[in-house]
Amino acid sequence: MEKTVFTDVYILDGTGRMPFVGEVALKGNRIEAVGEGRISVSRSGATLVDGTGAYLMPGLVESHVHLGLDNSNDIIALGALPPEEHTLLAMRNAKLYLDHGFTSCISAGAVKPRLDIVIRNAINAGHIPGPRLLASTPWLTVTGGLVDMNLLHMKREAIAIVLDGPDAYRRTVRELIREGVDVVKLVVSGDTGIPYADSRHTVMTEAEVAAAAEETLSRERRFNVHARSAESVKRAVRHGASIVYHATFADDEALDLLETHRDRLFVSPNIGYTAALVTATGADLPDRAQQHAIFQGELEASRRSLKALRKRGIRLLGGGDYGFEATPHGGNARDIEHFVTLFGFTPMEAILTMTRNGGEAMGTDIPLGQIKKGYLADLLLVDGNPLEDVRLLQDPAHLIAIMKDGKFHKAPSVAAKTTTKDRTKPFAQKKSA
Ligand SMILES: [Zn+2]
Repeated sequence: MEKTVFTDVYILDGTGRMPFVGEVALKGNRIEAVGEGRISVSRSGATLVDGTGAYLMPGLVESHVHLGLDNSNDIIALGALPPEEHTLLAMRNAKLYLDHGFTSCISAGAVKPRLDIVIRNAINAGHIPGPRLLASTPWLTVTGGLVDMNLLHMKREAIAIVLDGPDAYRRTVRELIREGVDVVKLVVSGDTGIPYADSRHTVMTEAEVAAAAEETLSRERRFNVHARSAESVKRAVRHGASIVYHATFADDEALDLLETHRDRLFVSPNIGYTAALVTATGADLPDRAQQHAIFQGELEASRRSLKALRKRGIRLLGGGDYGFEATPHGGNARDIEHFVTLFGFTPMEAILTMTRNGGEAMGTDIPLGQIKKGYLADLLLVDGNPLEDVRLLQDPAHLIAIMKDGKFHKAPSVAAKTTTKDRTKPFAQKKSA
């Protein structure tokens, strides 16, 4: 089994502990040992990576990815894109996420029914590079809900699947689980700026949510919910959702419910998209002043909601809705900066949303998201202290190495790496080898 030892690194282990100088040993795809100073572990046949001055941290987890988006806002054109081209697009994006240090992604909506499934399978088979991926259904939404792009005179589903009534949800959830999704995405509330389904509207009925939840949970899959209104948060939690996206207008009753179930669920506020539109200067906003006011309002609501969620100890996740014009794919680590600058989180708390908490949300059999014995070896070697400047994580140039499942996606340069098969060779001489 392949062995790697990172020596003389600052270890930012993703547990909340401040960085310490030490070593991390890997065996195969797992972390074998972690410790301060020199750890006692066999170095025979191991690849030694001298990380002097660099920070070793867990790979990042994006909690709300759409690999099939194309950095435009034209989701109608995207719906018309044939599956062949669309698969290639998602494949390029999968590599891009890994290039940016995202070793895990939870999909929050495939842009075609089998798109996530085939990309996940190809990644797992080692055919294409990409993060660990939880494959999702497309957005399952009601007539007149978010991403229902139909016109009255023609059927045009674009990127969502539009369903009405519990039986329709049962059938489609059964079908898509048969095809191989890991997670089901339900659009239970409306969204910001949609006149016929606003953020405070709860558009999917209790019976529809219940039917989808029953079909999902009975097959030991998970469902995640777009939930901005207070009632949509409650419906999500009552029926057993794993991730509640947004929770923008959660009231006290919704917050109480979230807190009661905080050991089994997560909230992903998806602040990146909102923040980008508030600060955007782009031509993608046809009525800039009006849009700015709308998203400023959403940001203020998120601020209130996040303050309450944080106080109640609810596990928060980073990321969300990158892949539009204002939020191109790859910039997702900006969410860490937003948590700090817009919401007053410490850099450590903000980083934990995309490491420890994200790892827990992945729900893998072997845990990930922290540098701990037994955990999966998904690691980043960073050429600076992310706690001092969280923006380092936004630029792949600062990532000296990216490792997923014990294998380098981006290996450190030769100068930083030495291999020894000589167990008698003194440790101090490793650099001269
Ligand atoms: Zn989304």
